[in-house]
Amino acid sequence: MSQMGERIQTSNKPRNIREHNLKLVLQLFRQQEILSIHQIAQQASLSKTTVTKVVSLLLAQGLVVSMGKGASTEEGGKKPELFALNTEKAYIISLSTGVGVISGAVLDLKCRLLYRHDKAYDPGLNYPDTLERVAEVIGEMLSALSLSHRQICGIALGCDGVVDAENGILRYPIHHKWGKELPIAEDLLRILPYDVPIWVDNACRFLGYAELVARGGAAQECMVTVFSAGGTGGCIIQHGRIIKGSNGFVGELGHFILDTHSDVLCQCGNYGCFEALVSPRQVLARVREAAPDKLAGSSLAPAVQAAALSIDDVFAAAQEGDALAREALDPVVGCFAALIHNTILLLDPQEIVIQGVYARAGDYFLERLRTQVRSFRFYKIKHKLDISYSRLKSSGDYIADFLLGGGYYVAEMFFSQYDFRAMEKLETAIDPRQ
Ligand SMILES: [Zn+2]
Repeated sequence: MSQMGERIQTSNKPRNIREHNLKLVLQLFRQQEILSIHQIAQQASLSKTTVTKVVSLLLAQGLVVSMGKGASTEEGGKKPELFALNTEKAYIISLSTGVGVISGAVLDLKCRLLYRHDKAYDPGLNYPDTLERVAEVIGEMLSALSLSHRQICGIALGCDGVVDAENGILRYPIHHKWGKELPIAEDLLRILPYDVPIWVDNACRFLGYAELVARGGAAQECMVTVFSAGGTGGCIIQHGRIIKGSNGFVGELGHFILDTHSDVLCQCGNYGCFEALVSPRQVLARVREAAPDKLAGSSLAPAVQAAALSIDDVFAAAQEGDALAREALDPVVGCFAALIHNTILLLDPQEIVIQGVYARAGDYFLERLRTQVRSFRFYKIKHKLDISYSRLKSSGDYIADFLLGGGYYVAEMFFSQYDFRAMEKLETAIDPRQ
């Protein structure tokens, strides 16, 4: 037993160190544009000999490419050779199945958008036919960029509803009448004429992952994102990992029931869900249906009369102190405060990030929300919660953010699951000492 343990230790340890070094150096290349051996050695705290060997392996695998000689000299007066991640080593496909539109993107390994394709479809389309449309979007994107399926390292498919990501099952699509317990990853793979890793998840989880990356991947102990536009969802990230639960329910924050007496029907079939109560439609209705004297005194009156009122008009007016705009928006603040209150009791996060429409709501909304959350008596004993707006810069194109989040996830899977054992064989061929 001890002999076996010893044998395992002596044969595995060097490989683990090698894998660790390879991942460390790859991570630097993913984060930065161009690096010299000297810069990598400094940043990774590795010897230049080790870094040279690691970079040789990455070059041989085509994961890294030479960018020629640098302009400045490093130690010894020589111009250093510069290297960069080969962003075209493989490509990522990210998809989102919205209601009535399938959106797709092709991204490089640094998740830079190369191509975006939105394809409209009949929102009443059944599940198998919709999947056919998804496959068409993939095929059309590959054709547009003259790419082969062999160049694709993975597909992210963001859905609405309850998703068992581990098994690729869409358990309950809330905004589509497709049925339940759909093995969507397997079904899509069956339609595609080739094999490729498919990662299915709730689109809001991909969006939460994008937020983590936007924060430099610096994971708080627990971060919760809350997305709200027409639909609502969330993502819970603990120690850098997305929490999904045993059935995939975790993160469906939109369907927390906040008002058991509410007559506002939610898409999920319940009444009084967070999603239904914070819908921008509800806010706009409160302004439009205000008493005539209230509306007459509001800066929103011309937009209402022109039938052109937008949620951004309400945000701007609330910011300026308009009483009606604040009256229409304050119930949403109350719902967010209640949701955050419940979330604190469940998860005690350090950070709550607001994504979607309400990330544009401005200082009035955020300050009022922070004040309401602080006013809950429990939190007077300890206050380490940061409530902030999303750092994703999509200018309101949430689909772009969903697609980016999916892309980040596939890139992470590609690099973390890269077959470094195959590299060892190469190493033997490259290293003259072996
Ligand atoms: Zn609901």
